[in-house]
Amino acid sequence: ANRLNTSSKKAVVVTARVHPGETNGSWVMEGFLDFLLGDSEDAQILRENFVFKVVPMLNPDGVVVGNYRCSLAGRDLNRNYKTLLKDSFPCVWHTRDMVKRLMADTEVLLYCDFHGHNRKNNVFMYGCSSRGDTSLTLKERVFPLMMSKNASNKFSFKSCKFRVEKNKEGTGRISMWKLGIRNSYTMEATFGGSTLDDRRGTHFSTQDLKSLGFYFCDTLLDFCDPDKTKVTYCLTELATMLGKKQLQNAEKKVKKKKKRLKSRRERNGLQPDGARSSARPKVLQRSSKSIEADLPQDNTDKQRKREKPVGGERRKQQ
Ligand SMILES: [Zn+2]
Repeated sequence: ANRLNTSSKKAVVVTARVHPGETNGSWVMEGFLDFLLGDSEDAQILRENFVFKVVPMLNPDGVVVGNYRCSLAGRDLNRNYKTLLKDSFPCVWHTRDMVKRLMADTEVLLYCDFHGHNRKNNVFMYGCSSRGDTSLTLKERVFPLMMSKNASNKFSFKSCKFRVEKNKEGTGRISMWKLGIRNSYTMEATFGGSTLDDRRGTHFSTQDLKSLGFYFCDTLLDFCDPDKTKVTYCLTELATMLGKKQLQNAEKKVKKKKKRLKSRRERNGLQPDGARSSARPKVLQRSSKSIEADLPQDNTDKQRKREKPVGGERRKQQ
């Protein structure tokens, strides 16, 4: 029996290797394709229920010439998805155009671009975030959280980030999200290894990377299961997680406010230094007087005060 009973097929778009040097993205892609084209029951269910659009290598020119990050023209294609220059950035221009045409036909459930990460460990995702809309904020995090449950010793939900950064608007992830694909992700697979569970401290093999392609398919079926138990469970967990985070952030802010000592200028409500340079000596005089007035008065202070008029008179005499 099929786990899905939709009449019209939703679409899933998967791409890889926009950055030529990130070879691990290709291993994940190979694992994904091996599984999807295989004989398993789950693979059949996936093929029957979804339209898959796959671009296994977005930057073949860059790969052939051995670039690490750029195209043949020396450009980072993953910063140029917004381009109107079809001939300068053909791969990403046509990918985005293909997605636009696909969206006119059917709902695109999910977009994911496979990458490799050269500093962080584990596998994780970058997603987008609809600020201000709590229910969307939670929904956008469900797929990555499910990945972390299915591949718990390789995929770290803690390392996932959900942001729409200004300087990343030209990425596949953000441009697809802006087209209207709510679940739009970059999946980063480490060049290193795992820090999680029983795999802690071990390097990833190509087989490990391929397994991520399998977990991706497995998670897709969980994500779309008509029995919403797992999705609901994840949403509840996310609500608790985000609630705690907001509380922690609020506490941090209060602590910061309490900790921070104010400068004399702030405490006395004085003008910033140099704001009234001609009146500066006066201000300083006034404020130093008020400081003295606040000091605890002992005998020597009283003595000094008594002496003051005398000193003043002396100065006048000179
Ligand atoms: Zn990359």
